Amino acid sequence: MLNDEDIERYARQLVMAEIGEEGQEKLLAARVLVIGAGGLGASVISALAGAGIGRLGLIDGDTVDISNLNRQFIHTTDMRDQLKTASAAHFVAGLNPEIGVCVHEGQFNAQNAEQLVSEYDLVMDCTDSPTSRYLINEICVTHRKPLIFGGAVRTDGQATVILPDVPDSACLHCIFPRSEVDYDQAPSCAQTGILGTTTMMVGAIQAQEAVKYIAGFGDLLTNRLWIYDGMSSEVMIVDTKKDADCPVCTGAGR
Ligand SMILES: [Zn+2]
Repeated sequence: MLNDEDIERYARQLVMAEIGEEGQEKLLAARVLVIGAGGLGASVISALAGAGIGRLGLIDGDTVDISNLNRQFIHTTDMRDQLKTASAAHFVAGLNPEIGVCVHEGQFNAQNAEQLVSEYDLVMDCTDSPTSRYLINEICVTHRKPLIFGGAVRTDGQATVILPDVPDSACLHCIFPRSEVDYDQAPSCAQTGILGTTTMMVGAIQAQEAVKYIAGFGDLLTNRLWIYDGMSSEVMIVDTKKDADCPVCTGAGR
């Protein structure tokens, strides 16, 4: 049941027929793991905390650097050298003290992945490392956890939704087969650059898909890749397909 403060705080989304009290209760009951509290994470964490996702899990082993602050707007100059997770938790407490934040120490890795993912209903991939992305995808497929992927560089971004319980849902590996490119050699944002507006755009789409998934409305980006070209401001949606020979999800969700 929503209390008086909830009704006031979430008034602008409660009034939406797609959400209403029932949807808001689902949002407040949801447990979402946000992997990465950098550019995409900042956008996702702020949007999910504002929307009233009841429990947010945060994992990121990095500390706040001044070069992060052109885009990671949940962190502030006075949080320099603090852990990003601590800085993010501080931000969430200020924005919406009702949200339960669980800070997980260190980086997401093969040792802690299964335990972490099993504690949440939905996973947000806000990392910038291909190795982490493929690990997150594998663990989510194995544990049948919905995963919302986002990627951003310079002025461009991509996002998609992977639902391992849906039989034909393409996983990250189906969409971006690892063998095609040596992803570990892909250039980082430090080399190619990134605008704060790009991570805001992509993180906003990821968070919106999360709210839609949890509250249960709209058409998700399952089997569709959202591609944003910030140079032209054009958005393209490309249909994606489960790869019958995918080494990650073949046999999963069937
Ligand atoms: Zn696959």
